[in-house]
Amino acid sequence: MDKASKPTAKAETRIMDLSDLLDHALKDMYYAEKKIYKSLPKMIRAAQDPALKEGLSAHRDETSQQIEMLEEIFTALGKRAKAEKCDAIDGILDESASLLEDFKGSAAIDATIIFSAQAVEHYEITRYGSMQAYAKVLGHTEVAKMLGQILDQEKTADETLTELAQTSVNAAAA
Ligand code: FE
Ligand code: ZN
Ligand code: FE
Repeated sequence: MDKASKPTAKAETRIMDLSDLLDHALKDMYYAEKKIYKSLPKMIRAAQDPALKEGLSAHRDETSQQIEMLEEIFTALGKRAKAEKCDAIDGILDESASLLEDFKGSAAIDATIIFSAQAVEHYEITRYGSMQAYAKVLGHTEVAKMLGQILDQEKTADETLTELAQTSVNAAAA
């Protein structure tokens, strides 16, 4: 987290701990999932392969469930749901948006979409994996379970994209 965007002096007088890191990650993901939800329609529209379109649409529906699950997690931890701008996902999605422009009309457009979508899934997998581990060690068993459910959805989404790339999309692009 960048200190520059946190003008409060109070936060700096206390040493941060693992539950603060979980709290930060939760706010990051609440921000990220909402932003991913908003970014997906552009990718879905640009996708040529019907199976890719369909897969991305299904994952968009899952993403809206994940936003609700994150709200439940905030509640379970006794906190109000709050998003915090995460530069990591912003970078991935900004790159994705410019690649969509650059590869408009290209035979490699679907490969480009998968290239970006998998970067998003891997970001989510690393974050939810860490968060699940923190929740476990902090004794938040239910929260860990919910994070594990989201993590599984992200892993499945990633595997689906790999399969599409390997069975049709990469060859069509080449
Ligand atoms: Fe997600
Ligand atoms: Zn962050
Ligand atoms: Fe995802």
